[in-house]
Amino acid sequence: MRKRLLAGNWKMNGSLAGNAELLGVLKAAKLANNRVEVAVFAPFPYLNQMQAELGGSGLAWGAQNVSEHPGGAFTGEVSAGMLGDFGCVYTIIGHSERRALYGERDEQIAAKFAALREVGITPVLCVGETLAEREAGITQQVVARQLSSVMDRVSPAAVAQSVIAYEPVWAIGTGRTASPDMAQGVHAYIRSLVGARDKGAGEMRILYGGSMKAGNAAELLDQPDVDGGLVGGASLIAEEFLAICRVAAV
Ligand code: PEP
Repeated sequence: MRKRLLAGNWKMNGSLAGNAELLGVLKAAKLANNRVEVAVFAPFPYLNQMQAELGGSGLAWGAQNVSEHPGGAFTGEVSAGMLGDFGCVYTIIGHSERRALYGERDEQIAAKFAALREVGITPVLCVGETLAEREAGITQQVVARQLSSVMDRVSPAAVAQSVIAYEPVWAIGTGRTASPDMAQGVHAYIRSLVGARDKGAGEMRILYGGSMKAGNAAELLDQPDVDGGLVGGASLIAEEFLAICRVAAV
């Protein structure tokens, strides 16, 4: 059985004091068990704090982006090796905000995926369609393009060993959530697409992301191909995130 992963994407939020408070609540709740794993994705400057506060807690942590380059004259960038120094187990790549606001392209995201694998960090690869793409009926083509670029550049087996986050762009931060059927349809498609090229796809975890909350988590997580959640806004509210994790832990 695939172990669920509940991942909190803090985006560009937090402070040393506020993080300490939130992490204190998460640690005290002892969320991780053999059914669910919990991870938080903090801004770069706080990775040191994650390592200091979460080491030995059973909670994992990671970053929200990485450079595709191993090092050198890339002012402002952070390499995968640096993330490894701070104990990151996972790192998000290809989030729709980075695709839309920073112009990240499939090829670049595939190179980031490779850079993470090189140092043993598991990529959490975000894919998903915009509202216009859903309305045009091309959700599957969009997701296939996003996944194929990584399978072609790295390998289908590497994708099967990573974590995929299906995040319909129209559901991120909007309060609109994909229906359980809609989510299941795309998750099953993702598994079949990777499964057509690597038999390890049966073990691959596919998270749903997009306005997941305590109130809708159960019906989403009930779907056979939904293996957890990538949670944005609700992960900043300790009680809300705890409630989602508890739903996932049963
Ligand atoms: C996200 O940022 O990955 C996300 C899913 O955000 P939200 O939960 O706020 O929609």
